[in-house]
Amino acid sequence: MGARHRLGALSAAVLTAAGVALIPATPSAATPATPAPPTGPVATGRGGAVVSDTVQSTEAGLSVLRRGGTAADAAVAVAATLGVTDPFVAGLGGGGYFVYYDARTGRVSTLDGRETTPRAGDEKMFVNPATGQPYDFATAVTSGLSVGVPGMLATWERALQKWGRFRLADTLRPAIEVADRGYPLTPALRTQIANNESRLRQFTSSSELFLPGGSVPAVGTVLRNPDLANTYRDIARGGAKAFYGGAVGRDVVDAVQNPPLAPDHTITPPQGRMVLDDLKSYKVVDQAPTHIRYRGLDVYGMAPSSSGGITVGESLNILENFDLRKMDRTQALHHYLEASKLAYADRNRFIGDPRFVKVPQDALLSDRYAASRACLIDPAKAATAPVAPGDPAKPGSCKAGTATATPDTEVHTNHFVVSDAWGNVVSYTNTIEQLGGSAIVVPDRGFLLNNELTDFNFAPTQGSAPDPNLPAAGKRPRSSMSPTIVLKDGRPWLAVGSPGGSTIITTVLQVLVNRIDLGMSLPEAIAAPRASQRNTAAVTAEPAFISGAGGLTALGHTFNPQAEIGVAAGLEFLGNGKVLAVGEPTRRGGTSAGVLFPTR
Ligand code: GLU
Repeated sequence: MGARHRLGALSAAVLTAAGVALIPATPSAATPATPAPPTGPVATGRGGAVVSDTVQSTEAGLSVLRRGGTAADAAVAVAATLGVTDPFVAGLGGGGYFVYYDARTGRVSTLDGRETTPRAGDEKMFVNPATGQPYDFATAVTSGLSVGVPGMLATWERALQKWGRFRLADTLRPAIEVADRGYPLTPALRTQIANNESRLRQFTSSSELFLPGGSVPAVGTVLRNPDLANTYRDIARGGAKAFYGGAVGRDVVDAVQNPPLAPDHTITPPQGRMVLDDLKSYKVVDQAPTHIRYRGLDVYGMAPSSSGGITVGESLNILENFDLRKMDRTQALHHYLEASKLAYADRNRFIGDPRFVKVPQDALLSDRYAASRACLIDPAKAATAPVAPGDPAKPGSCKAGTATATPDTEVHTNHFVVSDAWGNVVSYTNTIEQLGGSAIVVPDRGFLLNNELTDFNFAPTQGSAPDPNLPAAGKRPRSSMSPTIVLKDGRPWLAVGSPGGSTIITTVLQVLVNRIDLGMSLPEAIAAPRASQRNTAAVTAEPAFISGAGGLTALGHTFNPQAEIGVAAGLEFLGNGKVLAVGEPTRRGGTSAGVLFPTR
């Protein structure tokens, strides 16, 4: 599949009645019938599927699949279109983690496209020189200082190089069309704009784009983004180097160093340190995935710099010591909460960018280590949090201990999944970190810059032990993103992921436990009320979870309500080429699932 073709000239894979893909050797076969438009959170069918946050991005992915693109080609089209229609959580200004199942080799690979600290960054970069104290979070969040070198476009380029049939320019075309034509403002995006209004007002470029006429636009207003369409055109013409060193990159650096503050601005953002050389030297990492076996399944996830794969994997390994199916609901959920509490203690102590920190990945994912954590779970009582990390170097004993609390934040990004007629699968979480990122729109370029470097700890959090997640030049901040692919008998069975900051890990874990152990269908597993235990005194939980949690309260769990946790997207492969595509029925206003050839 090495050849690159122009989008319009491509044929599609032809499906037989049984749904088996016949791959044309040359691009000459007829285009299949136009599929039904993606309208809801669940779709079933053949020939490929997309689940993403917005209707336009799901349609963009399906349009590329229809023209014979692979899941990787379609994923780039989805991600680029999300940059238009989901601009507060996605786009050129951010980064992410791309997990790919290659049907030809039967292997899962991952790309680490995480944002990186500029070379002028250092361990004390989030310490205010005027006070000697760390900046408060709110100050750092809306500033050039928190902008990491974006990895998004480099990830798209690498994914196409490895697994695509299309040129970058062709995969950007659907996004350019949506940006030119415009899209109706959804209630979800309107809420995001309204919640960030005061941050957006600080920068002229940001208020011009998102507060047209000076106020938050009404739901249904058609939002166009010609600046972003032109930026994508520049990239289509000049390739990724237009960004990583070219004209787009120069504008990024300028915005980071000198954000266009409004005349009536009320903040004094700390100065960003990114220079053009940081962009020129940005590299996507071809990373080996994490892998564990859980109840006979192979679970693949994202290795560090994300903590997702290890922490989901360790939690599952702990849970494998128990038969959740034989437990009542309260006991099963109690074990789910306790397992993630223990795994989080280890995450906070041991996981950081592996090029800067020695991460005991194999030990943390070993069954022996999991057993030494599982024995700490008391079926009659929730452990007092924060619990202590274990000792992966000496996993023999079952020892509890004292711990240091680590602060964390709940913010949001997006996750989407794609499959194609060949059987390739993408699970891709991408982000600009906080809703609205740094709130700085690159002037005349139409996209927001990330504030991913706020995922570092600003000061040490681990008491006398070293903190693996302090900033350093060239280092990637620890992520929680957990794009996951699960194989059954060596073939894809599930692909799932979610946004939600540090709640991502528990959301992915909970969806897997719901589906694998608690007898739920994938739509039920995704829609079910969520709870997130991240080694904190209280469990963060959705109101519907708390109202049914009397039994858990009796075991000593306490709850902090949060309206919504995560926005999951998933695929389940049903056999014979049939796929169930599942988004959210209500969270973030509902998301969009579509398949190429709908069936019942
Ligand atoms: N910055 C977060 C992380 O990498 C993702 C953004 C979010 O969902 O909050 O873990």
